[in-house]
Amino acid sequence: MTTIFKKIIDKEIPAKVLYEDDLCLAFHDVNPQAPTHVLVIPKKEIRSLNEASTEDKSLLGHLLFVCPTIARQIGIAENGYRVVVNTNDDGGQTVFHLHLHILAGRALTWPPG
Ligand code: AMP
Repeated sequence: MTTIFKKIIDKEIPAKVLYEDDLCLAFHDVNPQAPTHVLVIPKKEIRSLNEASTEDKSLLGHLLFVCPTIARQIGIAENGYRVVVNTNDDGGQTVFHLHLHILAGRALTWPPG
């Protein structure tokens, strides 16, 4: 099923893109839950972390690897940030195209709600 993130990848709908390479795209979340809220998504359509396969192992590593690059680029690396992957209903996933949230800009509480 095509998601809104696929439409962003295909440039059918706009997004405030911060970073792009051949494997992934990062853009500002439209409904930020912290002063800085960025989404990192693979260009490959993977429904959730549960659907990632063995062949996706290096892609998953890449998604995580670009987070500090993006964090440095937008000036949040030093103070810190949180990377979250919501998965299915109890995880709070609403868009079924795998994505990493980068949250920053305030001291985040733990545990999450
Ligand atoms: P999740 O609830 O973990 O599936 O996260 C989905 C995220 O996508 C939410 O934080 C939404 O605010 C965000 N979102 C939905 N549509 C868009 C969009 N068109 N552009 C940017 N972020 C979006």
